This record gives sequence, C-alpha cells and structure tokens, in this order.
Amino acid sequence: MKAILYCRKSSESEDRQVMSLDAQEKELRKVAQRDGIEIVETYRESMSAKAPSRPLFGEMVKEVAKGKIDGILCWKLDRLARNPIDAGTISWMLQTNQIKFIQTHDRTYLPTDNVLLMYVELGMSNQYVRDLSENVKRGNREKLRRGEWPNHAPYGYRNDKNTKTLKVIPSQAKVVKGLFEDYASGHYSFSDLRKKYDLPKSTIERIIKKTFYYGLMERDGKFYKGIHTPIISKELYERSQEVKKQVTVHRPRQEKLFFTYRGLMRCAVCGCQMTATRKKGMYDYYYCTNGKGACDQHKEYLNESKANEFFEKALENIKFDEELVDIMYEASLEKLQNSQDDNEQAFNDIKNQLENLKRQERKLLQSFTSELIAEELYKEEVARIQKQKENLESEMQNYSQDTNTRLNTLELTKSVFLEGNKAISEFRNAEPEQKHKIAQNLLWNLEVKDKNVLSYKYKSPYNIIANAPKNGDLQTMLPD
Ligand SMILES: [Zn+2]
Repeated sequence: MKAILYCRKSSESEDRQVMSLDAQEKELRKVAQRDGIEIVETYRESMSAKAPSRPLFGEMVKEVAKGKIDGILCWKLDRLARNPIDAGTISWMLQTNQIKFIQTHDRTYLPTDNVLLMYVELGMSNQYVRDLSENVKRGNREKLRRGEWPNHAPYGYRNDKNTKTLKVIPSQAKVVKGLFEDYASGHYSFSDLRKKYDLPKSTIERIIKKTFYYGLMERDGKFYKGIHTPIISKELYERSQEVKKQVTVHRPRQEKLFFTYRGLMRCAVCGCQMTATRKKGMYDYYYCTNGKGACDQHKEYLNESKANEFFEKALENIKFDEELVDIMYEASLEKLQNSQDDNEQAFNDIKNQLENLKRQERKLLQSFTSELIAEELYKEEVARIQKQKENLESEMQNYSQDTNTRLNTLELTKSVFLEGNKAISEFRNAEPEQKHKIAQNLLWNLEVKDKNVLSYKYKSPYNIIANAPKNGDLQTMLPD
C-alpha cells in the first residue's frame, strides 16, 4: 500500500495545541510501519486550513489524481481540511475510490464510511457550519411564526416534501385520537393503553402531553398556533390533562422500593453488584454488596443525588444539536442524490446495452432461419449473448441495491442521533423506572469506587457519538 504523509500546523491560535510537524510525522511513520504502509511522499504544511488554496494540499490532490496512491496518512482528519471546499474534495476522493483509505493516528476512514460523521470530523467545524446553523435556526423561527412545523412530523403526521406542510396519516391519527379518548375516559392507565395500542409507554406519554394534536405547536417552551390539521379538539386535550393530574395526585405508594440505578453499577474493587438502601429522610444510597466477604468498599455509600449528577453528565456527552444533525443529513442526502444521478446514467447505459443485445439476438435468429449461418455458429453466438445479458442484469441489480443501502444507512444514522437525544432530554424529568431504562440503554460497564463512578462505557452506537464533537458547540470540535 502506497500513501502520502500529510502534516499541517499553522501559527494561528486554533492550532496552538496541535502537535508539531516533526511530532506528527514521527508518530505517523510509526503507524505506517505498524500497518505496512509505504510512504511515497511527505508534505509538511505550515498554514491554516480555514481558507482553500493551500499550495501543498493542492499538490497532494494533484498527486492523488494521478492514481498511483492508495491512501493518505494524517494525524487527524482536520489536518486535511477545515473549509467546505477542501472537505468536499477529500470526501469526494474517498467516495469515488481515488483514495482507498485515510489513516489517522487512531482511525481508518474507508470509502464505505458514514459520510455524516466524516463531515463533522473533517474540519466542518468552522464559521461555515456555524452560519448555516444560524440560518437554519432563523428560518425555523420564521416558519413557526407562520404556523409551519420546521422539524420532523410528530407521530400521526408526515412531512409532505412538495407542499412543505404536514399531512395527516389516517391510520396513525386514528391511534392518537383513540389514545386521547380512552385516556380522558379515566378508565385506562398508560400500561393499559400500551397493551391496547401496542406502543411503548414513553411514546404514549409523549403523545398525551402534546398540545400539537389540537393545533398548538410547542418549541423551547414557547407556543405557536399551527396551520396543520388538528387530530383532536382542545376540549378533549384538556380533559385528558385533568385525568393525568388526578392520577398523579392519587398515585398509590409503591409497595416495593425501586432504586433508579440498582443493577447498573459494579464495585470496582471486588466486582460485585452495587445494591441500594433507603435511609431515613428519603435518601437512596448505593453500596457494594460485598458478596465475596472481603471488600473495603462495603461501607462506602454513593448517594442518589451524586449518582444522578453523574448519569446526567454522562448522557449530556452524547447529546447532539438536532439542527446540526439536520444540516449534516441534508448535505449527505444531497450528495447521495447526486451520486444517484450518476447511478441513473450508468443504469441507462446498461439498459441500452441490453436493448442492443436483444437486437443482435433477433438478427442472429433471422440469419439462422434464412440459412445464412450454420447451426453451430448460431448456438455459439446465442450462448455468448446470453452470458453478456446475465452479466448486465446482475450489474443492474447492484446499482439499485447500492443506493438503497446507502440511503438506509443514512436514515439509520440520523435516527440514532435523534433517538439518543430524545432519551437524554427525557432523562432529567423521568420517573425512576424510565431513568433506569434510559441509562441501561445507553451506558454499561459502570464501576464505582470510593463513592465515585470510576469508569464507564457508552453502548454502541452511542460510543461513536461520544467520541464525535459535542452538542453543536462547534468550538469543541477543534482539536485538543
Ligand atoms: Zn466491593
């Protein structure tokens, strides 16, 4: 494998913390040796990458275009690009297989990698994205004022791309209406509704809370009158909220104590499960069960509020600015659609070739029936054409599958980001059972010592987000 080694450090403040060119080169040479990569050329650029037109970067791109290079070695992706033009160049070279990999000190990026994350990591952490994000926010506020919903349609509706409005999904609307009516009757608990409608309890609770269904949109605590078709009346909504109030007041005391974080943490010293107890004054404490009989952590009590603090902080880490996710998604979608156009062209080419083969087949048959060619030759030719046809047909199938798979991956990535966010924003105000579930879904391997969570891991795929830039606070995307 042949690669170019590219190091960059500017004298500007953005790069103050970045390793020196010498150090970058030294470390990357180690990586190359480890992975059996042959370095054919080394570029050392002392320049910011905020604006396009770095001379050495340009030279490198030209070198890559000659097609004699397999990949690029660089310390971090943001060494390669920090502006949308160069970022586009890099990801395009990768996607079109002009380069087969980018190796950084800790990761390999391949043509099949997720475009969304790569965009974030590729120096898109600049004013460009910030402005774009501001524009989106401004646009969203204007939309809300006009009564349009700027985000993904809530359950019961779908976004109509053509009219840019929300359309009711009749089957889901029926469910929403049924939920409100049943709940407002006072005869159903959320658990009853879950059984009857086969929806998660958290979804049902979310639906029952939403003023959206009678026409009032809520965003960041502010309310806007929507122009979408309501599914229920305001009166029905208010009745259901009355029931909810009563249920909350009359909630029976739980017989068995439920501890939010019991079963989630282990003792770092002896490996036993942490158990919990409720002390006078209503405080919950977690401590090592000392199952092996010799643990000094047995008397170390981690209190509930400290545990809460930890879990909230850990979950904040994998929160992602939803608008940023939208921007990344739209950008990737556009790119996918462009490549789809290319695909379509290739697809049509194949179709033409197939037509051509069919014409040849007909001609051949004519020649044979009018005894212009011998049977042996005829059979040979038919077999040849048949083989070509089969090849083309399977190629055709690949094209359509390819686009679909990539579209699915993109949708999946987006929903991972958004679902994670939803869980996290619910966490703070959730009931203990719900908190337990959210924490369990997102975190594992929690080890506690001396009343502190010593170590923990994010479950896949949230571990990816945990390592990616945080919170739409684009400052944090800068290298440390
Ligand atoms: Zn222990």
